[in-house]
Order: sequence, then C-alpha cells, then structure tokens
Amino acid sequence: MAMIWAEEAEEAVCKVPFFVRRRVKKHVEEEAARSGSGIVLLEHVHSCRKQFLEGKAMEIKGFQIETCFGASGCENRAVESDRLVKELEALLAERNIGAFLRERVSGPLKMHHEFRITLSDCPNACSRPQIADIGIIGARRPSMSDQSCLACGECVQVCREGAIEFVKGSGVRSLNLEKCVQCGKCLDACPTGTLREGARGRRILVGGKLGRHPQLGKELKGIYPDEGVPAVVERCLEMYFRYSEEGERLGAILNRVGCQAIIHEASHR
Ligand code: SF4
Ligand code: SF4
Ligand code: SF4
Repeated sequence: MAMIWAEEAEEAVCKVPFFVRRRVKKHVEEEAARSGSGIVLLEHVHSCRKQFLEGKAMEIKGFQIETCFGASGCENRAVESDRLVKELEALLAERNIGAFLRERVSGPLKMHHEFRITLSDCPNACSRPQIADIGIIGARRPSMSDQSCLACGECVQVCREGAIEFVKGSGVRSLNLEKCVQCGKCLDACPTGTLREGARGRRILVGGKLGRHPQLGKELKGIYPDEGVPAVVERCLEMYFRYSEEGERLGAILNRVGCQAIIHEASHR
C-alpha cells in the first residue's frame, strides 16, 4: 500500500532528478517504515540524503531499466514491453555490470555510473529514452496495401506529422516515411486496411546522456523486432566493457571510439 507523504517531504523529493526520483522515493519510504512512522516526513528525506552523500544509501547494482507508463493502460501504446524488459533485466544482471564498475570507478559507486536502458512504448517517449545509454522506442510503421481507399480522411486526421499525402475525393497517394514517427495511429484509424502494418518493433538509440556534456542518443537505422533487441544490447555492452576506462557513460565511449561497430553489426530493416 502506498504511504502517505507530508507536503514538505513531497516537495523536497520533487527536487530530485526525474530519472532517479522513483528509486529515491522508495528508499525514503523504506526509511520511514524502518523508523516506525506511518507517514513520510521531511526528516526521512534528510536522513536518506545524508546516507546518499556518505555513499551508503541505495544499493548500486550497476544498471537501471526504466519504462514509461504504457503498461498502466496508455492509449498511445504502440507495442508492449513487459516481456522485453524481463529479458533485458536478466541479460544485464547476468553481465554483472556492478562488479565491473566497482573495479573501474575510483571512489564509491554513484547512481550516475549505472548503465541505463530506457524504454518507451510509443514515440511520445515519456520516459526520455533519448538520454539513456540505450533508448528503446516502440514503433509501428505503416505501408500501403492494395485495398482501395475510401478517401474518408481518418488517417490524415490522426497523423500529427503531416506524413500522409491525401487528395480530397481520391484518397491517400503516398506516405512520407521521412516525416513519419511510426506511432501506428493511422493503422488503427483506417477502416479498410488500405494502410497496413509494414513493420512493428523498436527504434534504438545509443549513447544518450546528461551531466556536464549532455547529448541525445544516436538512432540506429531501422526497426528491430523484439527478438533482435538483446543482440544490440549485447553489442553495446561489449563496447562498454572493452573501452570503458573509468566507468564513463556509453555516449562518452562512443564519442571516443565511434559507433560504427554497433551501427555496422546492428542495422536492421
Ligand atoms: S511513451 Fe507513449 S505509451 Fe508510454 S506513457 Fe508515453 S504516451 Fe503512453
Ligand atoms: S504512423 Fe503515425 S506518424 Fe506515421 S503516418 Fe501514421 S499517424 Fe502519421
Ligand atoms: S487510407 Fe484508410 S483511413 Fe486513410 S483515407 Fe483511405 S480508407 Fe480512410
């Protein structure tokens, strides 16, 4: 059952960066429970902050997998990620990134050292996969079938990217895949099957990060089926283990050695 938070404790924890806020809140709630309090108070936030500064707060396991809220019933969801998340969690746990980082990083491990994979179930990208070591975005790419078009315009109504070339009275002429973000909304809207699913899977970005030199992840070419994603993650981890000198983020490594190896081996349809 969710704990009740005092207003000032809630305000204090809102200042924590969004990508670790969920974990920090959980830790503060555990601290409150340990102290026998039924309500989370500011003193629990301060106590956790002190522990964190002393480097003994949260267990640093070496990696984090974040998701969006698609699984809680978001209507925009293009793909489901539950199975893929479990698979990636097992893969990262098996590679023991925590032990690797403890060897490479001088001083105590901090959360910002952890290898981060972030999934979003549609191109709205609410969980911010662009700034993760590996960002994974759900995608459904439309293509045109032989079914005749009713010229109803439903697909044009739902496409926010202006990616559908439509002529009133005669219907859809073509799709502009340069503009299309592969959200799949037009597929759900089309009553005739004139627009059909050309590909379903994941867009993958590598090397995103925040910090002193922030950068967005670079997108690999194509859409990857779920079963192809772990191989890309493995490839990124190989680069990470081979080239990481002191536990720097994947993006910093790719800036140094280039991401040709990943792009070359991983590019998909
Ligand atoms: S990324 Fe898409 S599916 Fe996930 S919560 Fe946001 S809008 Fe919903
Ligand atoms: S998939 Fe989304 S962006 Fe692409 S054409 Fe359809 S509605 Fe537009
Ligand atoms: S492609 Fe489908 S949704 Fe779009 S105008 Fe034709 S019939 Fe309507």
